[in-house]
Amino acid sequence: MKGIVILGAGYGGLAAALELDRHGIPFTLINREPYHTFKTLLHEVAGARHDAHTYALSLEDLFHRTTSEVLIADVKRLALSDKLVETDRGTLPYDTLIVALGSHTATFGLPGVAEYAFRLDSLRAAMELHHHVEREIKRYQETGDPLHLRFLVAGGGLTGVELMGEWADALPSRLRHLGLPTTDLYLGLIHAHGELLPDVDPELRAVAQSKLVERGVDLILNERVAGADPEAYVLASGQKVVGHTLVWTGGVEAPPLLKDAGLPVDARNRVHVDPFLKARGFEDVYVIGDCARFEDAKGNVLPPTGQVAEQMGHHLGANLVRQAHGRSPLPFVYHDHGTVASLGPKYGVAEIGRHHATGATALVLKDGSKMKYLMHLGGPVTLLKKYRQWLEI
Ligand SMILES: Cc1cc2nc3c(=O)[nH]c(=O)nc-3n(C[C@H](O)[C@H](O)[C@H](O)COP(=O)(O)OP(=O)(O)OC[C@H]3O[C@@H](n4cnc5c(N)ncnc54)[C@H](O)[C@@H]3O)c2cc1C
Repeated sequence: MKGIVILGAGYGGLAAALELDRHGIPFTLINREPYHTFKTLLHEVAGARHDAHTYALSLEDLFHRTTSEVLIADVKRLALSDKLVETDRGTLPYDTLIVALGSHTATFGLPGVAEYAFRLDSLRAAMELHHHVEREIKRYQETGDPLHLRFLVAGGGLTGVELMGEWADALPSRLRHLGLPTTDLYLGLIHAHGELLPDVDPELRAVAQSKLVERGVDLILNERVAGADPEAYVLASGQKVVGHTLVWTGGVEAPPLLKDAGLPVDARNRVHVDPFLKARGFEDVYVIGDCARFEDAKGNVLPPTGQVAEQMGHHLGANLVRQAHGRSPLPFVYHDHGTVASLGPKYGVAEIGRHHATGATALVLKDGSKMKYLMHLGGPVTLLKKYRQWLEI
């Protein structure tokens, strides 16, 4: 059956699918895993704040209409001139295609980084990182070698900062729980610029930085990573920062299959889209979320965030509903609802419009946005189920 095919059940794809589902418009949703991942919370998985499975939401439970289908498959190739999607489970025709395949970590060809550094871009990657950290702590327990307790993160954006914040809280407690000293624990955050969190207000950046330093994080600023070996990051200045755990959060890129399909992409494989989120030059292909390069009215390119992806998905779904009822689509306008960065379970910084919040207040805002998202996904039942798991009640 032809019709609307949505690729990816992340923040963007799922928002579009839910909107169509609500209005009884059939679609096929293709996703690699049978679940939606709470990707914006992956640092919590790496820090073992809660069971990893609580950060996944089964796709089966989310849709009400029997007219739509969820296909668990890996998208391999897009044959746009024939309007076909090739997957590892067969080929599907489409009338309208929505590409929402997200992004993965980009290592920019830096030697050794892809081989030796962990990533934090999927549930599986976050779990692998957590298991590795546990093994390193065990080795430290057996050998006393402090190299096993040296944890390095490269990249001082949201992902790197939230991971460091999580570890600054979780790792000392874990060591104490095992009866181990915390004196050998080293947490190093390497960032190419003078300040962390480039997308938040300078005042909040300073708060986040001082909070990390206060909790023992060594900030290595204005240093570019030139490469990695199994036991160190090598910096452009020639300095080596040693550690057995290297994490790279220095940037993301969209999947190469978009470029291979002949879509108009930028250097990070993001597809240039028009104000209606349509791939430029293609009539029936929409691209949303981290896969899209969208310029707002002032010429600013929207950042790869869950907030942008969700708004795009919701907007596109609503536009397709409008078109199904013979109405014209509306151009996409992004509304920035602010940024909240958690620095572990007890502290955060938030910027909502011109208002700033720090400490526990910021975390209340983060919780508020989690709740809003869960309500939107599955209503009060999903909200309650997840919050029970996360509050462990
Ligand atoms: C640790 C961390 C913290 C973050 N914190 C924030 C935050 O606080 N606020 C914020 O707004 N953003 C945050 N982000 C960014 C945010 O997670 C992304 O921008 C967002 O997930 C993008 O949504 P998306 O729908 O484009 O893609 P995704 O959510 O990545 O979804 C893509 C989906 O496509 C599937 N897929 C990919 N390739 C294939 C394929 N070939 N075949 C089939 N399926 C495929 C994936 O499995 C996935 O389900 C954070 C990211 C990370 C990693």
